[in-house]
Amino acid sequence: MTWGVGGLDDDYIIATSSTSKPAEKTQIIQPFSNIEKQKEDKIKTGNESQEQCENNNNADKQRAKPSQEALKNKITLLEKNLNALYSARDTMPNCAEVDKQIIKLREELKTAKNTLNRKIQNAVAQKKHRDGMKRKLEDICQENPEIKRRLSLRDSETNGIYSQRKTLDELTQELRKLGFDISRSATYLRLISRKSNSTEGRRHVSTVPVRLIRAQTDHHKSHLDSKFAETSIHYLENIASILGPDQVFFLSQDDKARVPIGVTAANKQAPLLMHMEYRIKLPDHDWVIAERHKLIPSVYAGIKVTSNMLGQPQAVGYSGPTFIAIRSGKHSSSTANTHAQDFETLLELEEFRPLAKTDHGLVKPVVIMTVDGGPDENPRYQKVIGFAIQHFKRHDLDALFIATNAPGRSAYNRVERRMAPLSRELAGLILPHDHFGSHLDERGITIDEQLERYNFEFAGNVLAEVWSSMEIDGYNVTAKYVEADEQDVPEFPDIKWYSEHVRESQYLLQIVKCKNTECCRPRSGLFRLLDNRFLPPPAKVKQTVDDLVLDEGGQFLDLPVNLALRLSTTLKDFLQMPYDYFCPTVKLRLSSRTCKTGKVRPVRVAARRANELMCIIQNLEHQDVEWLDESDVDIPKSDESEQTHNTEQQSNVIDNLESWIQVSSTSLNLSLETSTKRKQAQDLRQEFMELEKKKLDLLQIKLSQSTERQEPDCEDLLFFKSLLPYMKELSSMQKLIALETKLQTLL
Ligand SMILES: [Zn+2]
Repeated sequence: MTWGVGGLDDDYIIATSSTSKPAEKTQIIQPFSNIEKQKEDKIKTGNESQEQCENNNNADKQRAKPSQEALKNKITLLEKNLNALYSARDTMPNCAEVDKQIIKLREELKTAKNTLNRKIQNAVAQKKHRDGMKRKLEDICQENPEIKRRLSLRDSETNGIYSQRKTLDELTQELRKLGFDISRSATYLRLISRKSNSTEGRRHVSTVPVRLIRAQTDHHKSHLDSKFAETSIHYLENIASILGPDQVFFLSQDDKARVPIGVTAANKQAPLLMHMEYRIKLPDHDWVIAERHKLIPSVYAGIKVTSNMLGQPQAVGYSGPTFIAIRSGKHSSSTANTHAQDFETLLELEEFRPLAKTDHGLVKPVVIMTVDGGPDENPRYQKVIGFAIQHFKRHDLDALFIATNAPGRSAYNRVERRMAPLSRELAGLILPHDHFGSHLDERGITIDEQLERYNFEFAGNVLAEVWSSMEIDGYNVTAKYVEADEQDVPEFPDIKWYSEHVRESQYLLQIVKCKNTECCRPRSGLFRLLDNRFLPPPAKVKQTVDDLVLDEGGQFLDLPVNLALRLSTTLKDFLQMPYDYFCPTVKLRLSSRTCKTGKVRPVRVAARRANELMCIIQNLEHQDVEWLDESDVDIPKSDESEQTHNTEQQSNVIDNLESWIQVSSTSLNLSLETSTKRKQAQDLRQEFMELEKKKLDLLQIKLSQSTERQEPDCEDLLFFKSLLPYMKELSSMQKLIALETKLQTLL
């Protein structure tokens, strides 16, 4: 069915299958200059109103054809004018001007009539086509009752509402009544365009029914750790509610979504709206301008904390100012680096001032950040820790907490609530990709890099302008385009400082002032609350007949209860309970673990050679030793840092057979022991450090010796190298040990 929308001359149809009978009458005013014609016009208006009445009466029986009607009107008008001219010629013959006009009018009349004929024929043909399609559909429905049912569902009442609407204004109004607040032009862009290559066609937005997932309790099972990670965040909310808005700055951050430039920013069902994991996949009919032509917005949501709600986590709300740093997707990547820069920028923003700073202009003593779980934002990522320490020191913070949700649960991060309004602004928006001229050749390959940078900057500034004009929940949005530039990773503090002030765990990074007044001076009430300085580990407690005990099957405690019970100190084998004691995946990791990237997480790395690592992997019952490609192994951070200083002095190839054998045999023997009794991660780290020390000592001895006798060493090396392929095939430890004893006797 055709939609005559305003003056658009039915170039647009709506995507419903039911028929409609548009009754709108398009009025086309012809630009006649002649006074005579204007007179005729006046006479005609009377007729027209009559015609319109007739038309309205017939509307139910017959389809209105606005564009045909308009043409018909034009033809009658032309005919009348022509008649008038004929009579004028009769009264005053030989007037060249009149003759000229007659010829011109005849010509016009001819084209108008031709157009009308074509339109009528076209309409007939289209009707035939529609009828044909309808018949086919009916046939299909008869053969497949399931399809019939589904189609009838689609064509139910709501669809009827839209198909009855005749004009864009009516449609917009109707949608508004249903609660869809879409502007007139945005609605227009959702109507299917006749031509896909027109400007309107490129801006077309296809709407797909999407229901946002609300935070529901039954989603908790989605990830093993979600409950654990959530408890940590609840603890932080609790701290914020107790200390109040004057001592706490709560910030939520995310930057998953990408905004394409050169094409409609939101034609893919507003990718910003949903988290990447949940993004609905649609057939890709994107007009891709070129590779990586996207902007990366990092969104920071300042969260308002309500005062005088001590102990109630609801004190931490959802509203507050928003800061968006927009970067080029081609020239910079989202890293810990850029986030550190953005943090400093937002502290200086006027909008964030009441939230972030005290009356004296200092940053509030306790900063809590909830971030997305991406690798570059993960609290356990080395660079993230480095920059966090920098913030902590620079702003004299009492505590800096960085928490993340369990994988797949980042949609519950507070900042996600800001995403929907932001993405709504993108509907139908095309960010210019070639404002300063195109930097691409016909194949979409960049030929002018400098120009490309300028173009990205322009597009980024346009987006920043669009977003900056927004207001979310009564708070301003500040958006800025940021040039790509890398900041150096700050130097890591010495081990002593680190161990005093920093606690890292799976989903939480804590940097807290120490009790030594020469080093740190607290300026908040945090330590009244946490006399242990750090957050207590989320503990699961079970009620028994005569006591309260820590138990896997118990419940996670609230922060105040947890602090009051002090159960974490009752644990045997531990001086203090590790923070991740009740974190399910960390418990698993102590045995075996495959992390989300599909990499193998070994219990530990026993040795290293060119691009390969000897890993001890826990299988269900026993431990295995395997050589694995470095890229396949997810090294626990602590192991990596200990390993790096080692590799600096040691070449990639095992150049020291003796030490290698000794080290690996000790480590293997140790791992045999551990397979019987489970060792905790800290013990393993300790043990590993000792091994590394031994290794280094042996290496030094060997290095001093090797200067004296190089030849035999090389032979040893060659011999050992020849054995390596065989070793690779050995997976069971017993075999390896057998080989080692043989080796030792040989040597
Ligand atoms: Zn200190």
